Amino acid sequence: MNKSDSERIAGILSHFDYVETDNEKEADLLIINTCSIRQLSADKAYSHLGVWGKWKKTRPELKIGICGCVAQQDKNKIRQRAPYVDLIFGTHNIYELPSLIKRVENDEKVCAITNKPVVCDQNDFEIKRKNSVNAWIPIIEGCNNFCTYCVVPFTRGRERSRKLEEIVTEAKKIVSEGFKEITLLGQNVDSYGKDLNDGKTTLANLLRALNKIEGEFRIRFVTSYPSDITDDLIDAVEECDKVCKYFHIPMQSGNSHILEEMNRHYTKSQYYEIVSKIRNRFPDVAITSDFIAGFPGETEEEFQDTLNAIDELELDYSNTAAYSPRVFTKAGKMVDKFLSEEVKYERLDRLNEKNREVCLKSNEKFVGRTLNVLVESKTEKDGKIILNSRADNNKIVHFEDETKDVGDFLDVKITRAQTWCLYGEPVK
Ligand code: SAH
Ligand code: SF4
Repeated sequence: MNKSDSERIAGILSHFDYVETDNEKEADLLIINTCSIRQLSADKAYSHLGVWGKWKKTRPELKIGICGCVAQQDKNKIRQRAPYVDLIFGTHNIYELPSLIKRVENDEKVCAITNKPVVCDQNDFEIKRKNSVNAWIPIIEGCNNFCTYCVVPFTRGRERSRKLEEIVTEAKKIVSEGFKEITLLGQNVDSYGKDLNDGKTTLANLLRALNKIEGEFRIRFVTSYPSDITDDLIDAVEECDKVCKYFHIPMQSGNSHILEEMNRHYTKSQYYEIVSKIRNRFPDVAITSDFIAGFPGETEEEFQDTLNAIDELELDYSNTAAYSPRVFTKAGKMVDKFLSEEVKYERLDRLNEKNREVCLKSNEKFVGRTLNVLVESKTEKDGKIILNSRADNNKIVHFEDETKDVGDFLDVKITRAQTWCLYGEPVK
């Protein structure tokens, strides 16, 4: 989501003749777009800002900005830590940037954090997309779920869906520009449309509308909330040939008591039912997840349930993290239940080990099978050109084929599996 926001910020700035540079040191304006999901990411943002602050001592005309979740969370406090910052704006007012940038150019120090989203048709602005094959489209902002560990509802606010027609217009433009994959983004994409209250705007119907756009391209969506995945959504994934058979469904913990403490609205067995429903429908599907190790009060047995769940569900891949206390959140206040860093990181190590084990198992299942892939990039290794591609189910596949290039679709027969990727040969 942050990368997508950055592409939009760069696009808005291009309307004011700003050109992106790869060399930070030659920039007239530097903006850091921040994430505060864990303390580490917030710390990184401040340390980067500190480096820029030093540059400003020798180049006082340099303008420095900070935006994103750390900005939204810390607001004016940022000035206490980094008084040299010229521009602070939040997650709700990226589209206010045209007026904010004018004020900064007039040497004003600006702090524009609002809780009221600035609404506009995003198609009125350029987007400087970084990737030439895949294009991100945010479809819903914010989150209403209030998982007890998570800062997102506080930094990104309540759910706000973009209009279906606006998304279709953006998608048509993307396809006409030659992109081959669209990834729909949201903290909880299954909630798409609920706030519009028109009874017909749903993720399933959005997929159906996008699937009608002519052209050779495919569609993905992240992130799904386990208990919000409807039968209609599963039907739409089946009906729509352009929609990838891939689901990212964070489970967070394999123990129902911890799930309740996390305020996740499903139990362990409900999650199992959703996974088996999806696997029964789509034989080649990949299901990936997120897990947190060391949530406040988590016992060793409860943690074991997470390891067992990863095994039993045969998950294809999981993002993992040690619990990080966040400001404003309920779990962040459970100080007397906090586990030591040692326990959290020891559990994280075991979680990662389990993840590696099941990823390899999952990849081995595909050896001998044929997957349809999209070439994303090329690399040279030992004088040979290797094509790096992604299968419909999100698996990374490497192969050699001098006749194919970035942006091509083809069938590849899988010959070898490693933990994080597959190797194969093109099917002629
Ligand atoms: N909306 C998605 C996830 C968004 S945040 C969902 O509901 O699953 C991405 C991931 O960061 C989460 O899935 C969670 O695993 C992790 N995360 C969020 N807050 C965290 C915290 N305080 N400590 C550690 N990991 C956290
Ligand atoms: Fe955070 Fe939970 Fe919302 Fe995901 S669903 S963004 S984890 S509050």
